[in-house]
Amino acid sequence: MALDKKEALKKFFGYDSFREHQAEIIDTVLADNDCFVLMPTGGGKSICFQIPAILRDGLTVVISPLIALMKDQVEALLGNGVSAAYLNSTLSSAEQDRIMWRAKTGDLKLLYIAPERLFSGNTFEFLKEWNVGLFAIDESHCISSWGHDFRPEYRQLSSLKIRFPQVPVIALTATADRVTRRDILKQLRIETAQTFLTSFDRPNLSLNVLPGRKRIQQIQDFISRRQNQAGIIYCLSRKSTETVAASLKKAGLKAEHYHAGLPAEQRSRVQEAFLRDDLQVIVATIAFGMGIDKSNVRWVIHYNLPSNVESFYQEIGRAGRDGLAADTVLFYSYMDIMTRQDMINNSDQSEEQKELLHAKLNRMKQYAETDICRRRVLLNYFNDAFDKDCGNCDVCKNPRSRFDATVIAQKALSGIARTDQKVAMGMLIDILRGSKNRNVLQHGYERLPTFGVGGELKGEEWTEYIGQLLNSGAMDIAYDEAHAFKLNAVSRQILKGERKVELVKFIPLNERKAKEEEL
Ligand code: ADP
Ligand code: ZN
Repeated sequence: MALDKKEALKKFFGYDSFREHQAEIIDTVLADNDCFVLMPTGGGKSICFQIPAILRDGLTVVISPLIALMKDQVEALLGNGVSAAYLNSTLSSAEQDRIMWRAKTGDLKLLYIAPERLFSGNTFEFLKEWNVGLFAIDESHCISSWGHDFRPEYRQLSSLKIRFPQVPVIALTATADRVTRRDILKQLRIETAQTFLTSFDRPNLSLNVLPGRKRIQQIQDFISRRQNQAGIIYCLSRKSTETVAASLKKAGLKAEHYHAGLPAEQRSRVQEAFLRDDLQVIVATIAFGMGIDKSNVRWVIHYNLPSNVESFYQEIGRAGRDGLAADTVLFYSYMDIMTRQDMINNSDQSEEQKELLHAKLNRMKQYAETDICRRRVLLNYFNDAFDKDCGNCDVCKNPRSRFDATVIAQKALSGIARTDQKVAMGMLIDILRGSKNRNVLQHGYERLPTFGVGGELKGEEWTEYIGQLLNSGAMDIAYDEAHAFKLNAVSRQILKGERKVELVKFIPLNERKAKEEEL
């Protein structure tokens, strides 16, 4: 079968052209090089390993944590004439034996397998006999405890490169910040992997934050301006999906709730009604949406604050897949933060893990509270260089007034530089304001030339401005080093006076008049 990649795309998937990066990724894998792919949900990651699997000799083993999605992917492949199967606990042992046999005889091009299944029994030993030509690690952020969905069973994948040094690995994810990315490569032992980062920008999604008051009323007003436009409302608890759906139904809307506690039959009924456009609104927990391919979702509302930016971006990303304009709304109040903080504190995670979850929550808070373009905050979070205002978020539409804060930025950044990029927010502010507390004295920071240079600003002003600097990409933060600030290329330009910085003037929250815009 001497097909080339373009012919394979047409023959097996019916598409005429590759999307951004797909062709280069396929070439990299076909040349036996490891590669790392960061592409938003719906971006087209599957083809990046499916086409190499079809074109090359041997078996491609796809590691995926989502048993429900495996079946869909395999069925889609079989429907397209590609020999594929999956191995997981839903199959009888006779069926599993048969699939392992087919893997061994070379009858399969792709085998999907969950990591816990791969490392149970002696499956991993069998791999040696299977002529494996490629490992594809889907949802690869699950291997990193810096990611937002760490799964301990993924850690065992570290042994793949040791056992199969000659087999290329392609790791894929839709969600990883820079620290997580580095960790994924380290854990998989593919540090030299070629990395492909696809822009996360979804310019057709409007970004809006509304004050978290009278939420139901605001939602009804919002939907009343969107007759027949399908949307999803994400809630934190199962209970609130039920109460919100009930009140929308009472107002005459075609709405249903959806969560993992419902019987499978009811879940699929709701899901199908939504796909068929028989249902306008789904009120759901985050259990809804994985693998849902509905291109005309026109809006997504977050009734409650998500726990981190990755989840938030994935969830709003379910709107406007067709590329047409779609709106996203986040309801936000200080209480939402408290609720989330309590959830973290009361969870049975390790202290280290809790700290990470708090840091991630804090970035979500910064998105909600930002006074700079929200898209800049989001894209800078994913380290997508984006240095203009988007014009399609509520902040851009109602600009806040700015002032030249280059000197403020230089003070903060030189504080970071003078302390060898080892300090986090609290210590940096103490240094800038000249607080001679024990911690500061212990490190001898009171002798730094930057000590006390920022005494003219209050602590909360510094917190705000440093938050804005972080949000606008003027520096980075390292979760794995106690949230120490790190200088980047932008920081250095600012320090050298090659770049001006404008920040939004600090206004205490109680003086801020919530401006409810009609959306
Ligand atoms: P991801 O895994 O990144 O979320 P998928 O691989 O499921 O995304 O792809 C999302 C959708 O885009 C699928 O319907 C897929 O068939 C489609 N797709 C992928 N690549 C192309 C392409 N080159 N041209 C057109 N559609 C594509
Ligand atoms: Zn904007």
